[in-house]
Amino acid sequence: MLAVYGSANMDVVAYVAKAPKRGETVTGRAFHTIPGGKGANQAIAAARAGAEVAFLGAVGDDAFGVELRRTLAGAGISVERVRTVPGPSGVAHIVVDDEAGNSIIVVPGANGMLTGPDAADRALLARADALLLQLELPLEAVVAAARAAREAGVRVVLTPAPVVELPAELLECVDLIVPNEHEAAGITGSADPQDALSALLDLVPEAVVTLGGRGAVYGSRAGTRLHEPAVPVRAVDTTAAGDTFVGALAVARAEGREPAEALRFASAAASLAVRRHGASTSMPHRHEIDDVLSARLAGLNNRTEV
Ligand code: ATP
Repeated sequence: MLAVYGSANMDVVAYVAKAPKRGETVTGRAFHTIPGGKGANQAIAAARAGAEVAFLGAVGDDAFGVELRRTLAGAGISVERVRTVPGPSGVAHIVVDDEAGNSIIVVPGANGMLTGPDAADRALLARADALLLQLELPLEAVVAAARAAREAGVRVVLTPAPVVELPAELLECVDLIVPNEHEAAGITGSADPQDALSALLDLVPEAVVTLGGRGAVYGSRAGTRLHEPAVPVRAVDTTAAGDTFVGALAVARAEGREPAEALRFASAAASLAVRRHGASTSMPHRHEIDDVLSARLAGLNNRTEV
C-alpha cells in the first residue's frame, strides 16, 4: 500500500482571450472545475498505475470538499484519513489566456490547516510500503509525516515542489527525492542535471531529476547512474506529467522492481499523460502503461511514434 500525505485542491479554470487588467471585466470562453493538488494527483496516478493507495489530507466543509473526496474515492483510493475541516477547501484559481499563458492563485484553505499525522494517521502510515510527500502543505506538517514514516521504517519519496528551503530534519527522513530540473537547480544551485544529481545525493540516498521531453536521470549513493529517455510521443499538455511519473515510479518500486525498470515504467506512464489534456483526466491506467512497455520491448518505438 502507498500512502500520500498531501494537498487536495479544486482547480477553478477560466479560459479567456485576454486576461483582465485591474478594474476591468471581460467575458470568458469556458470554465471548468477540475480536482487537483499535487497530493491528490500523485494519489490518483499511483492508484491508476495499480497500487492500493491511502490519501491523508484535508478538505473544507464546502461543495468542493465533497467533490474532492468523491473524486479520490472514485479512483479507488482510501479516504478514511481525509479530514473535513471548517472553512473552504484548497483552491487553485487559474486564468488561461491566449497571450501570456496561465496565471494562478493558490489558496491553501483546508490544506493549510494540517499540522501533522495524528495517532490514526500514524497507524495507517506504519502499514505503507512508502509515503509520498510534496510541499503544498505547511512545512511542519510535512516534516512530522516524514518523521512518522521514518520511525515506522517506511520509505519516504519527496517531490520538492514548490521549491522551499529544505530543512535538514526533513532531508534526513527522505529516501528518494524527485525534483524536475528547475527544482533540482533551485535546491542545488546547479543547472546541469548530472551535477545537480550529485549534489542531491549529498542530501539523500537516491534521486531522480526529471527533464521533460529529455527523460529523467537517476542516481544512488551506492553508485548507480541511469538515464531513461522520454518515450517519443506527440505531447499536447504536460500538466501533471511530473506527478504521474512520481506516482508510477513509487508503484513500481513498491512492487520490488529495480531502479532501471521502475524508471521505464514511470516514463511510459508520463508519456501517456502528456498525450492527453488535464491532470487527473490524463493519468493512464495500468493496462495502458503495460501496453506502452510491451510496444517498446517489441522495438516498435524505434520506428514509429506510439
Ligand atoms: P509538471 O509540473 O507539468 O507536472 P514536471 O515539470 O514536474 O511536470 P517534467 O520533467 O516536465 O516534470 O516531466 C516528467 C516526466 O514526464 C519526464 O521525465 C518524462 O518521462 C515525461 N515527459 C514530459 N514531457 C514529455 C514529452 N514531451 N514527451 C514524452 N514524455 C514527457
